[in-house]
Amino acid sequence: MEKIAQLRRLGLFDARVPRYTSYPPANHFSGSVGETEVNRWLMSIPPGSEISVYLHIPFCRRLCWFCACRTQGTSSGKPIAAYLETLKTELAIVSDKLPQGVRIGRIHWGGGTPTLLSPDSIRDLAVTLALHIPIAPEAEFSVEIDPSEIDEARLDALADCGMTRASIGVQDFDPEIQKTIGRPQSFETTKVCVDGLRARGVESLNIDLLYGLPLQTEDRISDSVQKVLSLGPDRVALYGYAHVPWMARRQSMIPTDALPTPEARLALFDVARRLFVWDGYSEVGIDHFARPGDSLDEAARSGRLRRNFQGYTDDTFDTLVAFGASAISKFPAGYAQNAPATSAYQEAVRNGNLATARGHVFSEDDIVRAAIIESIMCEFSVDFAEIGARTGVSAENVAEILNGLEDAFPGMIARTTTGISIHQDAREMARMIARFADAYAGSSSGHSFAI
Ligand code: SF4
Repeated sequence: MEKIAQLRRLGLFDARVPRYTSYPPANHFSGSVGETEVNRWLMSIPPGSEISVYLHIPFCRRLCWFCACRTQGTSSGKPIAAYLETLKTELAIVSDKLPQGVRIGRIHWGGGTPTLLSPDSIRDLAVTLALHIPIAPEAEFSVEIDPSEIDEARLDALADCGMTRASIGVQDFDPEIQKTIGRPQSFETTKVCVDGLRARGVESLNIDLLYGLPLQTEDRISDSVQKVLSLGPDRVALYGYAHVPWMARRQSMIPTDALPTPEARLALFDVARRLFVWDGYSEVGIDHFARPGDSLDEAARSGRLRRNFQGYTDDTFDTLVAFGASAISKFPAGYAQNAPATSAYQEAVRNGNLATARGHVFSEDDIVRAAIIESIMCEFSVDFAEIGARTGVSAENVAEILNGLEDAFPGMIARTTTGISIHQDAREMARMIARFADAYAGSSSGHSFAI
């Protein structure tokens, strides 16, 4: 109880804080980045290096009420076919600008629902990507999978194209909760999908769960976690449901009075967390779990864990080139986001242009603060000299940014010989502690609860 009172005093249950999947958070992007900057950044990728590639498919057959993704519901194949043609044109435009010998080390297809593509479209897109940008032999290829929108033929197509990792959306298995969030999906449907992936040799399976859903109780989340454990995923992402109906209008279908309180959200997370740990999973960052030996677990143990728009990753490439409407690329010099509306994106690309609409150019200060924030979110500690060496400033400069941190979070921060670390039992405060280093922190309305 004393701990809860302290967390309440420090504002954990009221604060709205960025998830820090980027720094600065995407709501601080501006029109300062356009085609000129992205042209330069693409041409500055070192020849012969490896990059990550993200392909965005912003369509769904169903529109789940809880989901804040920018996606378009469609029952016909026509808009999807037109979008895929644009995506292929964008691949051609971007690949023309890449220096000699640049190869893809990681591919991720996300959305939306990439698995609504037909088997022929899946093969066509994968082949077109490889024609435009060579793929390294050991490249990882991950795909977000909706178990209700997949079948044997599409699983075959993805496996033929070399998928190595699947990320499966579950959220919660309780039928009452599913009804309230507008996403029916039985355990049986999910199991058929998991079995189909395993049978095709997909080595790594990730399952996404949500805590903080309407009607969710400790018993219900325990039941869902037990079912997830029976599927034996290699990784689990346990995200907090962010209720932001002013940003995601579909969420206004969800009754606010059925949502758990912030204190109850913390308890729900803790119940699920303990079940994963009892079952032998390692805790990775603030909200991921991985089987020992999984590459995410190994990255966390060896200091190679990173934060990107998909959450936690062991992807350490400097450049992520993202294709599709609203997709965000990351370069060493900054972020670039494509036009969010499919129509604007398609118009730009059909005219032979990059579809960049906004972004952010990193200042020297951004680079240091981003490294501090990523270190807090991934390692729960900051090594002043290591971050200074990596970002070109002195250890004293790094320490200065965190000056006053211990007073702001009494009893939660320990001094170490190399910098600071967050106490084990204060890790739920990580996003708030990270915000201490955020020079853009101010308006909080666009963010989700800190827990
Ligand atoms: S949860 Fe998945 S299927 Fe549902 S609306 Fe969001 S992206 Fe589409």
